[in-house]
Amino acid sequence: METDTISAISTPLGEGAIAIVRLSGPEAVEKTNRIFQGKHLEEVASHTIHYGKLVDPETNELVEEVMVSVMRAPKTFTREDVVEINCHGGLVSVNRVLELVLAQNVRLAEPGEFTKRAFLNGRIDLSQAEAVMDLIRAKTDRAMSIALKQMDGRLSKLIHNLRQQLLETLAQVEVNIDYPEYDDVEEMTNELMIHNTKTVHQEIERILQTAKQGKILREGLATAIVGRPNVGKSSLMNALVQENKAIVTEIPGTTRDVIEEYVNVRGVPLRLIDTAGIRETEDLVEQIGVERSRQVLQEADVILLMLNYGDELTEEDEKLFAAVQGMDVIVIVNKTDLPPRLNMDRLRQIAGEHPIVQTAITQEQGINQLETAISDIFFEGDIDAGDMTYVSNVRHVQLLKQAKQALEDATNGMEAGMPIDIVQIDVTRTWELLGEIIGDTVSDSLLDQLFSQFCLGK
Ligand code: GDP
Ligand code: ZN
Repeated sequence: METDTISAISTPLGEGAIAIVRLSGPEAVEKTNRIFQGKHLEEVASHTIHYGKLVDPETNELVEEVMVSVMRAPKTFTREDVVEINCHGGLVSVNRVLELVLAQNVRLAEPGEFTKRAFLNGRIDLSQAEAVMDLIRAKTDRAMSIALKQMDGRLSKLIHNLRQQLLETLAQVEVNIDYPEYDDVEEMTNELMIHNTKTVHQEIERILQTAKQGKILREGLATAIVGRPNVGKSSLMNALVQENKAIVTEIPGTTRDVIEEYVNVRGVPLRLIDTAGIRETEDLVEQIGVERSRQVLQEADVILLMLNYGDELTEEDEKLFAAVQGMDVIVIVNKTDLPPRLNMDRLRQIAGEHPIVQTAITQEQGINQLETAISDIFFEGDIDAGDMTYVSNVRHVQLLKQAKQALEDATNGMEAGMPIDIVQIDVTRTWELLGEIIGDTVSDSLLDQLFSQFCLGK
């Protein structure tokens, strides 16, 4: 168990009005007191805040005027003693405070180490810890509220219930093994086994169905605008960015080749991918062959395929339709202010099921309808999606899929007439896999890896 005292800057770096340097650990109060001029911090009541000065004990130099919160274990985020030093937000100021703290033999916290301690000390479970991370990265209100719900333990509760059902089954199997001479015990065991594996399986499937939406809410609906040169792609991109508050979150570690803009369309985060790989001066269809462009198309959740109302349909347009076959496509007929030359009947034939939206971007027409079409694709007519428990974390989704598979193995085993203690192995495995989601059965190395993805100071 880690028992040293750690510290880090807990507010985003930059020019905020206030920055917080946080300490956690058994010596948090004592170490702060050494550099603090004001009340004797080791004698103040827990959960109180105090004005004073930070002074370097070596040089007696004044470093900062600060407010210091003292919070004693266990009612703190980490369940350890926590001190928060509120100082002026400038980069220099907050760094000087952190340096002064570290000079008192306090260790710089690793990324996510505060949250890791909260987890290790039983304050939160793993899926809640991951929700903290999601919250930091959330791009829209909806993504934020999902993370909040998860932090609140909604997913944890679901998982707990499922595991409880499996546990009951396993207990019943034990009874069966202990009293094999009673026929009705065997019957009960089989019935319970079939019933519980079925309900747990259904529930896992239901949770998994939310995964796609969850991922999109986390990462944004990857949206590629494609079309021949001059149809109005850049104009559309600009219109969407201007109309909708652009989201200025950078996800660290995802610097990429293509230009991306985040916009918030009716609560759906769009990651607009500029098809920069497709240079507009060159022949588009030829460029579609370029590996990167193809990749952009493959990565996209939604394709906005743009056509020019003032132009006839060309072979290039038809090739584009072929290239995006089987994907979620919204067909945009732009420049409806121009004299019509596009054959709409022919277009409806080619477009098939895909919705067609007419726009005149430069006249600010049709953008509303386009946004409706986009949010329809996301919510698929399900307006009341606000209250669902989404699973959005990749690790959770993988574990749920494996758990589902293990349950299917159990069911198949039963149907094939396998002995119950063999089937038991698969049910136990399911129970363990679900446990990994909330951190009941995870390895240390996985924990290290997970928590290292956090921002510093969380
Ligand atoms: P891109 O090559 O597909 O990115 O097309 P652009 O967005 O650069 O637009 C090409 C030209 O079409 C520009 O001069 C735009 O102002 C113009 N344009 C875009 N939308 C419309 C529209 O709805 N009506 C008309 N008349 N012109 C448009
Ligand atoms: Zn353009």
